Amino acid sequence: MFARRMDRVRQAMAAQQVDALLLSVGPDLPWLIGYEAMPLERLTMLVVPAQGQATLVIPGFEVPRVVERGDLFTIRGWGETEDPIAIVADLTGAAGTLAVGDHTWARFVVDLQHTKSDATRWVRSTGVTAALRAVKEPEEVERLQKAADGVDRVAAALHAGEIPLVGRTEAEVSAELSRRILAEGHVRVNFAIVASGPNAASPHHHASDRVIQRGEVVLCDFGGVTAEPHGEPGYCSDITRCVHTGPVPAEFQEAYDALQAAQAQAVAAAVVGTPAEAVDKVARDRLSQAGLAEYFIHRLGHGIGVEEHEDPYLVSGNGAPLEPGNAFSIEPGFYIPNRWGARLEDIVVATEQGPLALNKANHDLVVVDV
Ligand code: ZN
Ligand code: ZN
Ligand code: ZN
Repeated sequence: MFARRMDRVRQAMAAQQVDALLLSVGPDLPWLIGYEAMPLERLTMLVVPAQGQATLVIPGFEVPRVVERGDLFTIRGWGETEDPIAIVADLTGAAGTLAVGDHTWARFVVDLQHTKSDATRWVRSTGVTAALRAVKEPEEVERLQKAADGVDRVAAALHAGEIPLVGRTEAEVSAELSRRILAEGHVRVNFAIVASGPNAASPHHHASDRVIQRGEVVLCDFGGVTAEPHGEPGYCSDITRCVHTGPVPAEFQEAYDALQAAQAQAVAAAVVGTPAEAVDKVARDRLSQAGLAEYFIHRLGHGIGVEEHEDPYLVSGNGAPLEPGNAFSIEPGFYIPNRWGARLEDIVVATEQGPLALNKANHDLVVVDV
């Protein structure tokens, strides 16, 4: 798997005339060689020259963390008194164009730029890796399915009333969701949004000390990274379900029904060859029939893989057709300030056989009177 990825990366580098790829913290590195750099002040950087062996420059005492991968890369541990920037500068030789990982700390990029000649061209690694990462291989889809199954079970517990809501703070419910995500095969929780009542009108609301009341919506949007064998990258989950604590006002139920229809129609429209923005439009058109279009204030979805948000983005302006293996969220919502809001989100894979929804948890607005 990793050797194949390295081959594809080198082909992309050649096509874009990139002389060396430099990857540090962030998702490109684990995707490419299975190693996740520690986000610390000591530099870890994989140097992939257009020709010749790749080298992982890493603090000497972190070398034991690395799973070696045959001749995919060699390891260059550096001692506490060595200068890792000089080592990387040396490995890149007289390279003309350097592609740097998007998440690389500015301090390392700035220091590196000082060591290279002014003629060096600096580009982002995204140009090399994003299109490759956006097309999932079968084993990646399996891991995304495993991730989705894990959070589906948490959603099922929420629907079954196993997670008390009324009388607890959003933060307490968020903490419980987090514990359950970890218990369901995840190594890390990326977020556990709990937004109750009027707070549901804020899409990225932070779980607060607001106490959940009876008779209101509770929007839960949560996800994390799957636990995988040492040296293998984890994949992300991301799901949103809304529950209602007690009887649902007719007006809210009507709006939710439109949202549920919009989400289902958008999933069905996520067919290979369809422009990403057209899928967004399907959901937007359905919500506009219900008078809710102006309250759907974000794009329909984002790609997902080793990173929570990555290509492709389902948004107006992205005319790129969906490809087999693209994995992305479909998450329309409506947000009415100071009143209420709702969102419904699944992860979907575009396949030759049609859209494959990985999340299967109940999509209804379930009344949970606990
Ligand atoms: Zn979001
Ligand atoms: Zn989400
Ligand atoms: Zn999402």
